[in-house]
Amino acid sequence: MPVPDQPNIKSFYRNELAARCDHPYRADQILQWIYEKQAESFAQMTNLPAPFRQFLAASFELHAVKTLHTRHATDTTEKFLFQLHDGALIETVLIPATPGLTSQSDRHTVCVSTQVGCAYGCRFCASGLAGVKRNLTAAEIVDQVLHVQELSGERVSNIVVMGMGEPLANYDNVLRALRILNAPWALGIGARKITVSTVGLAPQIRRLADDPLQIRLAISLHGATDDVRQQIMPVNKKHPLNELIEACEYYHLTKGRLLTFEFILIEGVNDSLDQAHKLAALAARLRAKVNLIPYNPVAGLPWRRPDRARCKAFQRVLQQRGVTATLRTEKGTDINAACGQLRLQTERSRPESPPPSPH
Ligand code: SAH
Repeated sequence: MPVPDQPNIKSFYRNELAARCDHPYRADQILQWIYEKQAESFAQMTNLPAPFRQFLAASFELHAVKTLHTRHATDTTEKFLFQLHDGALIETVLIPATPGLTSQSDRHTVCVSTQVGCAYGCRFCASGLAGVKRNLTAAEIVDQVLHVQELSGERVSNIVVMGMGEPLANYDNVLRALRILNAPWALGIGARKITVSTVGLAPQIRRLADDPLQIRLAISLHGATDDVRQQIMPVNKKHPLNELIEACEYYHLTKGRLLTFEFILIEGVNDSLDQAHKLAALAARLRAKVNLIPYNPVAGLPWRRPDRARCKAFQRVLQQRGVTATLRTEKGTDINAACGQLRLQTERSRPESPPPSPH
């Protein structure tokens, strides 16, 4: 796919599109074709006059991502590898709630990427191994969700911005994409069903606090003291814990919303009961919920997950101190979901061999 000169229509707000049409109802017709009927081409938009369709085709790109392949895990998590106009690869994951086990068995969560690669170089993460290449455009973020809907046949109800990249380092494009996904004229996904996860960029957390969009915020903490966090997250040198926690407090007070701390458990690094107690104190101070995630091993990296008993003991400390703490049962481990690993595998096998075919 050559890099297009025209802007992608999926990065436009309704009012911006209306300004380019001879009448606002034309914009609504176009938006319906894109977001309700998932049109494949402008030519398909048959209730628009032919010359107008030609104008659209000459003025806008319609697609921002191309499906390279999809993989299913046994727990029905599906992973998608998409190619962008410049050939870059990104991953998107569809995580259905387990039917029968939760009250929301009809929930379908899409995990989207926001950058090609990542600049923050967390030591345990596959996404940052080769640095960051570029930001995704708003259209490239929106189109991930549309393609997953189309390919899976499932209506997306929740979005987690936890794929490749640091969303708050691509602030404007990410917020634009989320406003579009949230808008009633696009997918209408409730703001409270959208979660942004950040490595801990304190200034942007404050900026997000001042934004009226009521999305949820999750912080990748992974260490309850500077010495432990610094070992695995270089960003902690720039924004140490006290600065991060103060930004979280500002968010909590300004928005009146609770945050979530994500804490991956890595054997011998951050899984001591002392860390659990210190994490409990931080979480209690912010009334934050804690998501404990046993580390998902990455080929070539030395980190391992603690055994189940140790994870449980860590969780018990938090619970005994009155902190809500869930211990995640992984989904998608067998397809290397959620951690940049499918892309990594494919990148490593290029250009000599094509990516593995679906399934
Ligand atoms: N940059 C953002 C969002 C992308 S990462 C952030 O840092 O939050 C989404 C989550 O997956 C983060 O909490 C990240 O630390 C975590 N993660 C990365 N690699 C992982 C792995 N191998 N196992 C488990 N979680 C991982």
